[in-house]
Amino acid sequence: MQAWTSKMMKLAPGVKMTPDAPLSACTTLRLGGPADLLAEPANADELAKLFRTAAELDVPVTVIGRGSNLLVRDGGIRGLTIRIAQGMRKLSVDGCELTAEAGASLAEAAALAQRNGLAGLAFASGIPGAVGGGTVMNAGAYGGELKDVIARVEGIRPDGSAFSYSGNEMAFGYRTSRLQSEKGVVTRVTFALTPCDPAAIAAEMNELNERRRAKQPLDVPSAGSTFKRPEGHFAGALIEQCGLKGFAIGGARVSEKHAGFLVSTGGTAADFEALMAYVRCVVWAKTGVRLEPEVRVIGEEAQR
Ligand SMILES: Cc1cc2nc3c(=O)[nH]c(=O)nc-3n(C[C@H](O)[C@H](O)[C@H](O)COP(=O)(O)OP(=O)(O)OC[C@H]3O[C@@H](n4cnc5c(N)ncnc54)[C@H](O)[C@@H]3O)c2cc1C
Repeated sequence: MQAWTSKMMKLAPGVKMTPDAPLSACTTLRLGGPADLLAEPANADELAKLFRTAAELDVPVTVIGRGSNLLVRDGGIRGLTIRIAQGMRKLSVDGCELTAEAGASLAEAAALAQRNGLAGLAFASGIPGAVGGGTVMNAGAYGGELKDVIARVEGIRPDGSAFSYSGNEMAFGYRTSRLQSEKGVVTRVTFALTPCDPAAIAAEMNELNERRRAKQPLDVPSAGSTFKRPEGHFAGALIEQCGLKGFAIGGARVSEKHAGFLVSTGGTAADFEALMAYVRCVVWAKTGVRLEPEVRVIGEEAQR
């Protein structure tokens, strides 16, 4: 354990912290080396305390959610990793507004909306991310995107100041938002939803999740679609057209069920990154289309 980690644990008592925490346990790909120190704040005050202490000790900070869009490299993450997924998951409904803490899962938020007869989040019920991670990514599926229903995003910047952005101020685009380039942690999101028959919402959720189960390799570790949808094309169709279905490097493989999903059957994050690079290279050479990663690659390579 490094000297700063024990100082950090003393300066922020009460916050759940684990030194040398394997991040493979925190990502849906089940890959990635250790975080020097993993903190899981239970509320916004603990989060602010972590930022203050990290600044005092001059320690870099990385924020993750449920790790469903992340490839963490084999060397892991230096400094403090803050996970907003387990704590901070309160949800409430007030009229047509649903407010969720950033660590609540999108599935939990969608289920609460359905029970309260509020439409607008059914498309998100099968996306395995948290509300915070989903907001940063502007997660979407089946014609819906979180930007369509987000009224307000609140959070904390690393200097401890609070921010509160309306949906319009979030600069949402396809799988992007201003918080991908600005440093800041989402703590709470308010969704503006529409009254609807709960049974109709439940039917829609079931239908979409059935379509997902039929098309996607949900029984193998993945981070969902590895690449963004290139304009005018589908990444999966291009990869399949290049004859790459089933192609593997080490434990990383192009899914046989859906070529847009690169999956992990064990092996290393380096295998997965090498497969991403290979697929991009072949698709570019054979079709002239550049695939851009949707999966966010973070952390350090393993030392040789
Ligand atoms: C089987 C499967 C299916 C999927 N299907 C879809 C789909 O249909 N549509 C879709 O859009 N995505 C899909 N995904 C990808 C993923 O679920 C989404 O991108 C999700 O929104 C990521 O949320 P997360 O909490 O897991 O974020 P993470 O993967 O942990 O992090 C993603 C990014 O957000 C940042 N971040 C996380 N939390 C916060 C926070 N509180 N404040 C600030 N920054 C934060 C991280 O630093 C990182 O840059 C799928 C993934 C899997 C494994």
